[in-house]
Amino acid sequence: MSNITLALAKGRTADSTIHLLKKIGIQFQDFHEDTRKLVFLSEDASIKLIFVKAVDVPTYVEKGAADIGIAGKDNILESQADVYELLDLKIGQCKFVVAGRAGDFPPSKQRLTVASKYPNITEQHFQKKGLDVETVKLNGSVELAPLIGLADVIVDIVETGNTLKENGLEVFEDVENISTRLIVNKASFATKSNDIQLFIKRLTVGLEEEYENHNG
Ligand code: AMP
Repeated sequence: MSNITLALAKGRTADSTIHLLKKIGIQFQDFHEDTRKLVFLSEDASIKLIFVKAVDVPTYVEKGAADIGIAGKDNILESQADVYELLDLKIGQCKFVVAGRAGDFPPSKQRLTVASKYPNITEQHFQKKGLDVETVKLNGSVELAPLIGLADVIVDIVETGNTLKENGLEVFEDVENISTRLIVNKASFATKSNDIQLFIKRLTVGLEEEYENHNG
């Protein structure tokens, strides 16, 4: 029987995470990159891996359906899930920014309209600055909103900056650095302390080796 259940985000960071797990000796039976299977068992049967949508990882962990999750800081913050965040895997590094039409900052408006896929992060950011904003929740192509007058600015993730540039937008302000983090269910951290601590230790050593290989 597996000791811990690990929820992993499907999508852009999954391959790097699986690669890291393989490096620390954790491999999953039947796993291959194009698989449609959602549940895997590690070869030593100690870890059950479940693949879930990236935005849902914090929910699985908060509710205890998974003991551990590996998720983007963006989704952890937006979910407001009550979990422990214990390790930065430094995979998928990017940042949240406030952006808008180049040369149009600050937009000449009393109350800004802000479009974002992340309404909670948006509202918290502007609240901290003491600004009351109207948030428009979108599900994609957020960069379009300031171009067609749906919003004055956007709060979105920037990696290379190419999407902003190609759409005539620029960064006005940095909000938060993002990368893949390890999160843990609070009850599991107490009841499965040894297994979880061991997993974190192995991952930490693996990350240090990766870092040394890249920089040394
Ligand atoms: P870029 O052009 O490289 O700056 O990428 C920006 C676009 O990719 C934006 O539309 C973002 O929403 C999306 N994006 C980049 N990195 C991530 C990420 N780690 N998670 C989710 N979306 C991302």
